[in-house]
Amino acid sequence: MSAAAPEPASPAVERLRAWVAAAQFERAIEEGGALFRAAAAGGRWAEASDAALEAGRACSNLTASADAQRWLHEAAQAAQRAADPGRECMAWGRLASEHGRHDRLALALDALDEAQRGMAQLRDPAAVGSLLASTAATYYGLGLTSPALLAFERAVEHAQRAGDAGQAATLRANWLIVAHSHHRLLADADPAAAARLVPRMEAELLRLEQGLGTRDAPDAPRQHWRLAHLRGCVHLDAGRPAEAARVLEALLAEEPRFPAPLMAAIWLSLAQALRATGDAAGCRRAVAEAASAADAPGDVPRSYDLLRRSEIAELQGRTADALALYKQYHHRTRFVMLAAIETRLEGFLARLAEQEARVEVETLRAQNAGLAEGVQRLGVLATTDPLTGLLNRRGFEAEAARLGTQPGPTVLALFDLDHFKSVNDRHGHAVGDAVLRKTAECLAGVLRAPDCLARHGGEEFVLLLRTPEAADAAAILERMRASVHEHDWNAIAPGLAVTLSGGAVACRPGEALEAALQRADRLLYEAKHAGRNRVRIDLGRRAAP
Ligand code: GH3
Ligand code: MG
Ligand code: MG
Repeated sequence: MSAAAPEPASPAVERLRAWVAAAQFERAIEEGGALFRAAAAGGRWAEASDAALEAGRACSNLTASADAQRWLHEAAQAAQRAADPGRECMAWGRLASEHGRHDRLALALDALDEAQRGMAQLRDPAAVGSLLASTAATYYGLGLTSPALLAFERAVEHAQRAGDAGQAATLRANWLIVAHSHHRLLADADPAAAARLVPRMEAELLRLEQGLGTRDAPDAPRQHWRLAHLRGCVHLDAGRPAEAARVLEALLAEEPRFPAPLMAAIWLSLAQALRATGDAAGCRRAVAEAASAADAPGDVPRSYDLLRRSEIAELQGRTADALALYKQYHHRTRFVMLAAIETRLEGFLARLAEQEARVEVETLRAQNAGLAEGVQRLGVLATTDPLTGLLNRRGFEAEAARLGTQPGPTVLALFDLDHFKSVNDRHGHAVGDAVLRKTAECLAGVLRAPDCLARHGGEEFVLLLRTPEAADAAAILERMRASVHEHDWNAIAPGLAVTLSGGAVACRPGEALEAALQRADRLLYEAKHAGRNRVRIDLGRRAAP
């Protein structure tokens, strides 16, 4: 299938995107649903896919994960109907990251597989970039920060190659968020590596600040809030808690419309900054805000929420609670991993069992084929004369029965070697055998494929000749006689000469083979008595076909 040029987003879809960018999620869901239904009813599947995707993104932002999954599935299916691999890939990718954010590791990996399956058909770098972005987001959702960083870096490269500065900036911001999480991990495990990460974060932040869009752009406030949040994170990681606190407090004073989990994260960062500056009261206030935001009900609990609650408890001085929550978080992530690996293993084992069954069936089939071949070989042996390779009497009878059902005149001939007993007597049985073999060759050499020549037993041969004209039959039989007579037999035994006699009749309609054979045999007897080395033929009373 060759991928057609992707259809651009419709103005209605652009409007939806603007609602999502402006954090007007309820509105995006409502209008997205209506647009999806209208587009699907009109068979405009690319537009239906776009509408479902935006509705899914909006649900995801509201942490309504079940609805988000449903919409993203719709988006993938609509893209399939539109035969649009780029859109399908995007929908699966979004679904993967939605699963990832909610600890559904096995489902996330499956959805990523689906997204990557369509990769070969992706023609434009923007689509590849979005696949990389979903991959990165999925890993981040699963808490796998270093592969997420790597995938976001690649996604930024692709967005740049596609000339999409806006997407590149969004991905840079995502990279920074992940880098901030990763920094916190490294700070305990590998402080030197954590320190090395900071200058890269500062550089990315600078590029983002330089590239910030105009205040008039529909998502300008959101971009501004995001940037403020990121600046606070970088200050914190770079060991400038006072500056971090200043930036984050200014951001929170603007009451940004962020989803609750992100609000919790921002309050938490502020609390950490204030604690580092020694502002215990400020820290307590920020922690309380973080706690209430973290308790805001999402539809599915996530392991990441446990980690955040553990950090809140620690900042509140509830060390035992913090430890218990951290343990829960640890067990949960471990369980998520184990469950995912188990699911994958089960899938693998199922495929393996299928494969084994297939191999078994193939082996049995090969054995059966061997048996069939054996049966066929036995059949050949049963109907073939081993000395001459011609049909034997049984084979001849079967063939005669088959030929008898075909229309057209048939001549039956019997040949008998002359004085063959004396050939055996003078030259030995082995020479006799060689003569039989060569005679078969001479006779067969005159014939065409449809004629049926057989060894009738001993030194007798029988022939069913299908020929349109009696004169033709006589000529052929004469050529057969001559072929034996004129053969140079000296090669077999010096001074050897071989001839044969024959009797031939035209088969009568409905005549039994045995009856025709008897008539031919009588003519053969006459040929012998007339001096041998000749063929007696009776075609006179041959009936018309
Ligand atoms: P005629 O011209 O009257 O047919 O004389 P003939 O000697 O051929 O007559 P007869 O039918 O008496 O002899 C047939 C001989 O053919 C007898 C037998 O030893 C020989 N013979 C039959 N089958 C074979 C065989 O498979 N190999 C060999 N070497 N000889 C065979
Ligand atoms: Mg004989
Ligand atoms: Mg004979």
